Amino acid sequence: MTVRPATWHNWSGAQTAHPVARRQPRTVAQVQEIVRRAAEKERHVRTVGAGHSFTPAAVTDGVLLNLDHLSGLVSVDRAAMEVTFLAGTRLHDIPGLLAPHGLALANQGDVDPQSLAGAVSTGTHGTGTGFTGFAGMVRGMQLVTADGSVRDVGPGDPLFRYGRIGLGAFGVVTALTMSVVDAFTLHAVERAEPLDTVLGSWPELSRETDHVEFYWFPGTRVAHVKRNTRYPAGAVRTDDTAALPGPVPRWRALIDDELVNNVLFGGLCAAMHVVPSLTPTVNRISAAALAQREYSAPAHDVFVSPRRVRFNEMEYSVPLSDAAEVLAEVRRTLDSSGLPVGFPLEVRATGADDVPLSTARGRDSCYIAVHRYHRDDYRELFAVVEPVLVAAGGRPHWGKHHTLDHDGLAAVHEELDAAGQLRAATDPDGVFRNPYVDRVFGTV
Ligand SMILES: Cc1cc2nc3c(=O)[nH]c(=O)nc-3n(C[C@H](O)[C@H](O)[C@H](O)COP(=O)(O)OP(=O)(O)OC[C@H]3O[C@@H](n4cnc5c(N)ncnc54)[C@H](O)[C@@H]3O)c2cc1C
Repeated sequence: MTVRPATWHNWSGAQTAHPVARRQPRTVAQVQEIVRRAAEKERHVRTVGAGHSFTPAAVTDGVLLNLDHLSGLVSVDRAAMEVTFLAGTRLHDIPGLLAPHGLALANQGDVDPQSLAGAVSTGTHGTGTGFTGFAGMVRGMQLVTADGSVRDVGPGDPLFRYGRIGLGAFGVVTALTMSVVDAFTLHAVERAEPLDTVLGSWPELSRETDHVEFYWFPGTRVAHVKRNTRYPAGAVRTDDTAALPGPVPRWRALIDDELVNNVLFGGLCAAMHVVPSLTPTVNRISAAALAQREYSAPAHDVFVSPRRVRFNEMEYSVPLSDAAEVLAEVRRTLDSSGLPVGFPLEVRATGADDVPLSTARGRDSCYIAVHRYHRDDYRELFAVVEPVLVAAGGRPHWGKHHTLDHDGLAAVHEELDAAGQLRAATDPDGVFRNPYVDRVFGTV
């Protein structure tokens, strides 16, 4: 259960922590004991999943908890289409756990090393205007709160209301009940399209297909659009949908996903880091090298791709109805900045949800993400784009870089103060606080 304390880094390397102790509990009772002991010693407790947040969300000088041993399926309620997982379950384990039941998560982001609790706690999302992010799929949760007690909460409970996207500030989440759907196949079409058309019609485009996103290398005039359409599981093999193509052959996936998108792209990023003036040429090569392909596969295999080239990221959601103008302004701003940007922007969309601190709370949302190779200084680029997104009423992803403080966040999250009051009431001694929690909720 005890792990030797050592310096901790997040995935991108931008965040570092020096916890006084690291713990990997195997039972909820052990989590309770750790929280109680830390509270007695006036130490902070933060839980970390895969450390995939770019923000210092999990950073602590106190006890760093990891729930990798509290992982797996607890129960399946087929009638309710709800499944309960231990909170440390990694997203890449979920398809295997649900496959025997013919079930799947309705939507996902584009990578899967995250823990389920980490993904929920920061409002992780994928794309698809008929769908929400992870927090919108939560139907119940179990937490160990600051006094060491176990709380099982569901709709109607304030801890459920604010604790879903809670950044670990309301307690250690130990189990999550998620709504699920029947397992499904995705038919993917990936191709280059004129950037002007895609930018100008993005709100309409994002509603036409179940799941659609696009990548754009600044300075180029093409958008790499990925459209995914849902079919029943196994549709690829039945007669009526025989027209659906099969999965990407293993050799092709190796070339596209590993060699081009990771090895070659990683080498190009390293070259641009040393010689930034290469960026426009490299962007043209990168845009042309992205795969044009059509295939079908189980949903998880289509949603998720390997991401081995490390980067830092800032992402804001803006109202989907305003997306075409905001995207045009982002493009103008980037073009006139003269900054060499060697990583593509990623644009997605989701439906509105009712989770108080969600980036999609109450509005269909367009997500605009800016990336920077991990060895490059991300601050300059993000500082150029962030004002455009803030001016558009943007809400930053809780796990991705942003510079907003409590007041800036409260301006776009009407229930942030109510959430902060509940946080203070459930954790009066600040066991689960860290500087990021204070920045978000204020120091009530
Ligand atoms: C390569 C990459 C790709 C990404 N792709 C996407 C994407 O497609 N869509 C998207 O929306 N985001 C994406 N993200 C962001 C990522 O999904 C979130 O930052 C997510 O929170 C990471 O999960 P994690 O398990 O690493 O959590 P961590 O970063 O370890 O923790 C995140 C927060 O959750 C809290 N937490 C973790 N576990 C618990 C627990 N058991 N109880 C209470 N609090 C807990 C932590 O204290 C912290 O505040 C990506 C990040 C990377 C690095």
